[in-house]
Amino acid sequence: MVSKMVEHSPQCVKCNVLRCSVAEKDRRVPSSCPTVRYADLIEATKEKYHLPENEAVIRGWHGLMSKILDPEKSREKFSWTRVDEIMEYAAIRGMKRLGIATCYALLFESKLLSDILEANGFEVVSICCLCGEVNPQDMGLGGNVFCNPILQAEVLNCEKTELNIMVGLCVGHDILFLRHCKGETTPLIVKDRALGHNPVAALYTSQNSFYNDRFIRKPE
Ligand code: SF4
Repeated sequence: MVSKMVEHSPQCVKCNVLRCSVAEKDRRVPSSCPTVRYADLIEATKEKYHLPENEAVIRGWHGLMSKILDPEKSREKFSWTRVDEIMEYAAIRGMKRLGIATCYALLFESKLLSDILEANGFEVVSICCLCGEVNPQDMGLGGNVFCNPILQAEVLNCEKTELNIMVGLCVGHDILFLRHCKGETTPLIVKDRALGHNPVAALYTSQNSFYNDRFIRKPE
């Protein structure tokens, strides 16, 4: 059963009105629409874009989009890989020193990335998740060893990297990395052990009848 709280909480993914993305702003929106329920918050967040640290990011994003979404070149947007986008964003922002926080299982991919970044004139600092590994027994957990994503973040903080790139950090370790990382950070590779690190394939294939019960979990 859906709780009252969730029932009245934003459900944009279920909205058929989409007033927020069209020019006609007189459309009637669902009662849960955040543009109505959170009107004050909207104004407060708009103010935050004027903070220098946020304005700098928005200007970087805007510069990037103006290249990707060039109205004179409609196919241009299909030529931008995520690697291209990250390098262009960094270049627009005048960033020289980039950090890579990588899973040890993706060191090969991270070396390829590092080589590409260096070939494009960036300084690259990289740190593997198993650096400063933690003994699980110190935390009352089983196993022999686990990674230290907090160290990854703190080392990149010390190294004063201007933009950090996450490569394949596990769910949970990525949360700790982001919690402790002071620099701007963007993901390049999101770990998906089943799908060659391409998690959206799970969503697309879930539409196919062969896979339609793939994500329906039954009680054990
Ligand atoms: S913001 Fe409002 S109009 Fe836009 S998708 Fe969400 S519910 Fe629909």
